[in-house]
Amino acid sequence: MVLDKLCAAGRPVGAYDMIDIVAQATGKRPAPVSIYRALDFLLENGLVHRLASRNAYMACAHHHERAATVAFLICDSCGCVTEASSTDVATSLGALAAASGFRPQAQVIELTGLCRACAAEPGRAAAP
Ligand SMILES: [Zn+2]
Ligand SMILES: [Zn+2]
Repeated sequence: MVLDKLCAAGRPVGAYDMIDIVAQATGKRPAPVSIYRALDFLLENGLVHRLASRNAYMACAHHHERAATVAFLICDSCGCVTEASSTDVATSLGALAAASGFRPQAQVIELTGLCRACAAEPGRAAAP
């Protein structure tokens, strides 16, 4: 159910927003702990990603490896989030971590800025 709702949202959803969404769908307010448990389970199984900067969760439809490097392109204007991955980035990050003797658990990159649609809005280029 939580995964369904995350997929349907198509954008990052915070745990407390998820409680509201589930409450609306079922007419029963779930306990926060059960929502967190569901989200943890989905995270562990690589079905969702956690966006640290937004403290929100997003469904992953890409069926990539759990340890794969993913980049999130987060639009500051409309809030849309695009998931992207690149083996070049993964390789460079891996080398960077290895050079420090660091063993990463998850490699998640978050880029904030403007999405294509927002960047193309008239007047946007003149904005500070
Ligand atoms: Zn993903
Ligand atoms: Zn946008």
